Amino acid sequence: MEHVYFDHNATTPLDDKVLEAMLPYLRGRYGNASSRHELGTLSRKAVDLARQQVAALVNVQPSQVIFVSGGTEANNLFVKGAASYLKPAQVAVSAIEHPCVAKPAQDLARQGWKLRKLAVTREGQINLADVDEALKEPTGIVSVMLANNETGVIQEVAAVAERARRARAWMHTDAVQALGKIPVDFAALNVHAMTVSAHKLYGPKGAGALVMDKRLQLRPIIHGGGHEQGLRSGTENVPAIVGFGAACGLAADRMAELGPRLEKLRARLEQGLHELGAVIFGERAPRVPNTSYFAFKGIVGETLVIELDKAGYAVAPGAACSSANPEPSATLIAMGVEPELARGAVRFSLGAGNSMPQIEEFLKALKSVVTRLRSLTAIAV
Ligand code: PLP
Repeated sequence: MEHVYFDHNATTPLDDKVLEAMLPYLRGRYGNASSRHELGTLSRKAVDLARQQVAALVNVQPSQVIFVSGGTEANNLFVKGAASYLKPAQVAVSAIEHPCVAKPAQDLARQGWKLRKLAVTREGQINLADVDEALKEPTGIVSVMLANNETGVIQEVAAVAERARRARAWMHTDAVQALGKIPVDFAALNVHAMTVSAHKLYGPKGAGALVMDKRLQLRPIIHGGGHEQGLRSGTENVPAIVGFGAACGLAADRMAELGPRLEKLRARLEQGLHELGAVIFGERAPRVPNTSYFAFKGIVGETLVIELDKAGYAVAPGAACSSANPEPSATLIAMGVEPELARGAVRFSLGAGNSMPQIEEFLKALKSVVTRLRSLTAIAV
């Protein structure tokens, strides 16, 4: 059975045009971008073009783009690379960061840093009063994501950056879930560094970038031949980087059409969710247009995800689903959601290939699954 895919925040399908751009570099154009001969030069030129394409989408100079393997590596490079340059102080990250920011930040405690989690409101937005409070302590690093991967809630990064700069801290944002969904302008965000990843905007897995202020002095976490201005050694993954560039080029052309279209689909979905009695998290905050995060009281999110999967729909549970009693999502707990309701969380994330008839069919399937699960719970009680 062909599944209808509503899990674009996990990853997106590769766009056909992106694949076309990549294919030559998976076939005949296999040169190492560091080689001086013609094959090498072809690869170097392709990497240079991709760097321009990524830079153009986020409004920076190409030399500010450091290619890495993805969002996880870029976040690690910033947190670890900044920490090994700066004197230990406070590292302040929002309580809703992806683990690839939260865990490296936590790890800094072993080097004498003090971790401070910045609070969010019930709607999942960073609490600026708590940022002010936190920054009374000497702070070296601040990291607040631009759009949350679960709720889709857009954070006031520029307002945090202004405060971080006043406190002389280095400000980073993880823009992985924002790029391609809303305009992302590095200068307007006023950050020192920003993380982006190709596979969340119809590009390939295995490419991403740390976009940075050239004055920032980061220490690399991967040492070797000195690629990427010495910040990320290792032979460039040319096909993936080419795909990343192509995806950024397409995103720039498509965002104006895609955003409003997905927002209409989400509005219809959420109307149906309300009719079924769902709670929608972060609903009143500004959100990226493709994401809806919801729960039904008394229904475990993972169960709903499995039942929807059987019905032909790919959505994601909000909790780490590795055990019988799943841990509720840290993001929802930080928002003050009751753990029991948080265990019900399901993330629905739209993409370019989705349509209104799919939403209508999904709502019918959801209604039948929820009705059945509710009747089972009623019997169990
Ligand atoms: N940051 C956020 C907010 C994410 O949602 C993800 C992916 O799930 C990442 C970082 C990690 O990116 P990558 O999969 O490219 O390592």
